[in-house]
This record gives sequence, structure tokens and C-alpha cells, in this order.
Amino acid sequence: MTTPQSDNALRRCDDSGPPFGTLVFDCDSTLSTLEGIDELAGAQREAIAQLTQRAMAGGVALEAVYGERLARIAPSRAAIEALGRRYIETALPHARELIAALRALQKRVCIVSGGIRQAVLDFARALNVPAEDVFAVDVFHDRAGAYAGFDEDSPLTRSGGKLGVLRAIARADRKGGAALVGDGMTDLEAAPAVRRFVAFGGVVERPEVFARAVITCRRADLAALLPHLCATDEIERLARSGEHAALLHAAQRAR
Ligand SMILES: [Mg+2]
Repeated sequence: MTTPQSDNALRRCDDSGPPFGTLVFDCDSTLSTLEGIDELAGAQREAIAQLTQRAMAGGVALEAVYGERLARIAPSRAAIEALGRRYIETALPHARELIAALRALQKRVCIVSGGIRQAVLDFARALNVPAEDVFAVDVFHDRAGAYAGFDEDSPLTRSGGKLGVLRAIARADRKGGAALVGDGMTDLEAAPAVRRFVAFGGVVERPEVFARAVITCRRADLAALLPHLCATDEIERLARSGEHAALLHAAQRAR
């Protein structure tokens, strides 16, 4: 079964190269090796991970599993704080350095995730991504910190919802358009909003997504994204500053 949104994505993505003004990253299985909701699932991990896997592969619509997963897990405030720490611990190599380089080139860096906003915000702070450039799903807690539901109006809980969020981000860009890096079907669905979509398979390679992406990256190191996201003269500018030597060296090794 496919959703109407994924039918639109059956064609190969359009692609044009850097420079870009805005770089957008998915969070789970892209900036971090985690799938946050699976991580919260504890003893139910296997059943929840199966639901996530089916949604990310496009086998079921995201909205069919989003609320069900959270209702079954009912994550407490403390569990979400712990998830934020786990995101930081499981960041892909050179996540922080890549984002620092992009920001040094005056680019807007955003994180757009169907994950839980409070945990993604903790991760974003560690990566130096401003809170206003983090788009994710709010969950609610009562005074005792017990789970009390999620933002059911968030487009990021629905298949195709990332497309609308990416369109708004791309519209706000005045400096060369946007590129998106992500691993999942929800990322592929958002590709029509951006000039370049990079299918990231450094954590999980999803064949359904790779089949339709023009640009793919299989390296489990975000330094490998640098030549897909920056023009040659931008990389030369980074090299001249000396501050980004570790990232540039790793990008060379990943070629
Ligand atoms: Mg992902």
C-alpha cells in the first residue's frame, strides 16, 4: 500500500548542485544512529521498531502508526530527557563539525524531524542549531511528568507532512535554495520542496528511498556529505580558515 504522497515521489527527484542557502537535516538515523521512538519503547522495542520500519519504508502511512506508538509507550518527561542525552551520545561522526562549517559559511541549518521536539532540542543545542530552526513534534506531560498526549495538529506526524514544512523553509531562503538530507520515506516525500535531496544510508539504507534519489551517501560519517552540500569554492574557503581541518580531512578520506 502506498499513500498518494509517496506516489508523487515515485519519480526520481530533481537535482541541482550547490551552493545552497539552507541545509535541512532529518534527525533519527541521519544526525544520530537512533530511532528515538524505538529507543523510548523499552520492553516493547521490537513491536514498536517494526511499526517504525514499516512507516519509514513507506509500507504504511505515518499517521497510522504515530499515535499508536506513543500511546503504547506513554513516555514520561524523564524518559524524554534521557532520550535527549542518548541523541547526543549517538551523534554520527562529524555532525557537530559539519554544522559548524555550514554555519561559518553563513548558511541556515535546520533539523526537521517526526521525533519528539523536547529531545531533539537538547540534541540541537549540543550541535549549535538554534531552537527556532528545529521542527519536531511536541509531547505533553502532566505536573508529575506523566505522558499526556502529543501535538496531533503537527504536520510532522503525517505522511507527506514534511513536504509542507520544507516548502515553508525553502520559501524563506534567499540565498540559493535548500537541500535536505534524510534516510526515510518521509524525507523522500519532502524532496520536491528542495533543490537537492541526499538519501543518507550511513545508519540504515532504505532501498525504497535510495531507488528514487539522485544523490546518495552510504558513509557512516557526516563529513562525507560536505561535497554534496557545498560548492568547491566554499570548501576552499573553509580550508583557508584552518578551523575546519578535521572535517575537511575526514571528507577527503570518505571520498
Ligand atoms: Mg530518519
